[in-house]
Amino acid sequence: MKPEWKTILPLLHDTHCHVNLYPDPGEVREQIARDCMRVVHVTTSPAEYVECAAAGGSTGALAPGLVPQEIGELAPQLDLFCELIAAARFVGEVGLDYVTEDQGERQLQRRVFERILRCCEDCGDRILTIHSRRAAADVITMLDGFRGTPILHWFSGTQEQVRAAPENVYFSINTAMIVSRRGRNLIAAMPRDRLLLETDGPFVRIDERPVRPHDLYLVVDFFARQWGCSAMEAAAQLAANFSGLEGAGA
Ligand code: MN
Repeated sequence: MKPEWKTILPLLHDTHCHVNLYPDPGEVREQIARDCMRVVHVTTSPAEYVECAAAGGSTGALAPGLVPQEIGELAPQLDLFCELIAAARFVGEVGLDYVTEDQGERQLQRRVFERILRCCEDCGDRILTIHSRRAAADVITMLDGFRGTPILHWFSGTQEQVRAAPENVYFSINTAMIVSRRGRNLIAAMPRDRLLLETDGPFVRIDERPVRPHDLYLVVDFFARQWGCSAMEAAAQLAANFSGLEGAGA
């Protein structure tokens, strides 16, 4: 990383990072603080959120999550989850995952996600970071008319679905998405003022190691080349997008 990036990192927001799931979460938090970055700490279950909240030490918003991949185990905790939503501005990770072929499980995922959306609306404006693997069409349909602020995290649907997404939808981009032609074509279809950054660390890897928030300079560099501007200008656009996200509905 060139020295000039040190002045750019404080402008950046990682909207989706599982900080507590790194092998060395304390070191990751220290690095986030050193780099003056803002990170949304996402979680996968109500229990994990409660544990993280009790442990403290988050360097940014802590988001209650309920992932669709574990819907059988987590669906009974939906009442508790809605209570947690009431006390948080950011919510996630939530959504649908159609890697499972089981129609009953997919239906349960939709029922739970529907309830989460209604609960977020009842609580006022909530910002959601949403998983939609192989389920982009249903997620976009369910977000139609949603009165909150959705971020489609690591979106892997089609360009047509990007264009069909409601106007209040944001897209968060990680380092894995910018290395494939398919990912780059998808990003090109997304409105520039709706783009955000995410690591999805520690699940995304770079050079055999888990990605870290400061690696987002690679995504900013990608946008700078894409837009034909300086890295600082690209970072400023992304920072403005995040301000718009936080201001939306507030
Ligand atoms: Mn994730």
